[in-house]
Amino acid sequence: METISRPIKNPDARSTRCCIAGGGPAGIMLGYLLARSGIDVVVLEKWPDFFRDFRGDTIHPSTMELLKELGLLEKFLALPHSEMTRMTFHVGDREATVADFRHLKTPCPFIAFIPQWDFLTFLSEEAKRYPQFRLMMETEATDLVKENGRVVGVAAKSGAQTFEIRADLVIGADGRHSTIREKGAFEVEEVGVPIDVLWFRIERSGADDKQSFGYINDGAALVMLDRHTYWQCAFIIEKGSYEKVKSQGLERFRERVAALAHLPASAVAEIDSWDKVKFLSVTVDHVRAWAKEGVALIGDSAHAMSPVGGVGINYAIQDAVAAANILIPSFGKGIPDLRTLKKIQARREKPVRKMQRLQVYLQDRIISPLLVRRGRTSLPWFLRVIGRVPLLQRIPARVLGIGFGPEHVVSK
Ligand SMILES: Cc1cc2nc3c(=O)[nH]c(=O)nc-3n(C[C@H](O)[C@H](O)[C@H](O)COP(=O)(O)OP(=O)(O)OC[C@H]3O[C@@H](n4cnc5c(N)ncnc54)[C@H](O)[C@@H]3O)c2cc1C
Repeated sequence: METISRPIKNPDARSTRCCIAGGGPAGIMLGYLLARSGIDVVVLEKWPDFFRDFRGDTIHPSTMELLKELGLLEKFLALPHSEMTRMTFHVGDREATVADFRHLKTPCPFIAFIPQWDFLTFLSEEAKRYPQFRLMMETEATDLVKENGRVVGVAAKSGAQTFEIRADLVIGADGRHSTIREKGAFEVEEVGVPIDVLWFRIERSGADDKQSFGYINDGAALVMLDRHTYWQCAFIIEKGSYEKVKSQGLERFRERVAALAHLPASAVAEIDSWDKVKFLSVTVDHVRAWAKEGVALIGDSAHAMSPVGGVGINYAIQDAVAAANILIPSFGKGIPDLRTLKKIQARREKPVRKMQRLQVYLQDRIISPLLVRRGRTSLPWFLRVIGRVPLLQRIPARVLGIGFGPEHVVSK
């Protein structure tokens, strides 16, 4: 289902209790939770719809547990999706299961693949049932409005119109290139990343019934996300090597993809131009202090996540739940002060940093060395061990599926 959200413009929304910049997983979930508790909230999304295909697709067991707590799980599972109970990688000519989710004690012991635009459309439609939720599509936060050193709103533009939205609290949930983080002069710690991603699609032939999630061989790595009628592919390259890959020609690129994914040449023929291959730069970073007077950051704007492990959406949602649990009682008493806002980072920083460290370890020590090794790649010893001992497959399943410090909805 490739539904596109109806653009909603509401130029009357000029003051609110909470203005959230960014309608991604973090922003929409926080907007939903605040509105559900009767708190007036405005979410600004700069694009006219949620349809941006470079967003990941994985909804993990931890997020589905939250959806159950919110009474939304049944409706969510009714959306077209696919389910992965075991994560299997094909390395060289061997296959290894690295995570088996089936033993997790959680309502949905699998990873659900659902295009992110379907997920965001679903969640925002649920949020719109609450009159306190206002979503302004095609509306970009361009600056922060400050008074006496405190943030009191955002400057925004929608088409040719520019205006201010006054708010008791501004939340930056506007992703890795966050305007709120830049305008709020938040200090960012950058973490070096050795990989980038080439993002393209391959139509499904009907004959391919792939069980593997990822393929690694001959200095290349490919992850394939099931989007029903096509595979969304992430081809991982060494950072800064895109021009080199291009200079080797499209024919060579197609050959590498087909060989890696065990597909016939005809299956990748549709990649007939570099325009069909999107270059995505991978970033990992962390904001030192996530809050200042009147403003706080959550999700990728506070800590850009690598695509490794496909956990970023889920961590953004966990941040939103933690923020709602902290903010809702505080909104009940007045305007959340800086001490309250700091509690969001205090709650989420450890789990996020742990996961980022794991992502960086996997990028630097496992993926990056494999990308420079030519010829048939042999299965690393630890994957061989995990592949042979099913009990061990439960550990990565827990780390990826549930994550560190999972949150639960406490607000009514
Ligand atoms: C190539 C790649 C693949 C990935 N695959 C996966 C995956 O499979 N699974 C997974 O869990 N994670 C994946 N991730 C990570 C994941 O995409 C992010 O961690 C997650 O989307 C963060 O959610 P967010 O809500 O914080 O930010 P975002 O999803 O980035 O959402 C921010 C929103 O804010 C909007 N916005 C930006 N600026 C403004 C502004 N000034 N005003 C108004 N709106 C604004 C944007 O349009 C966007 O809708 C991947 C990342 C990359 C780079």
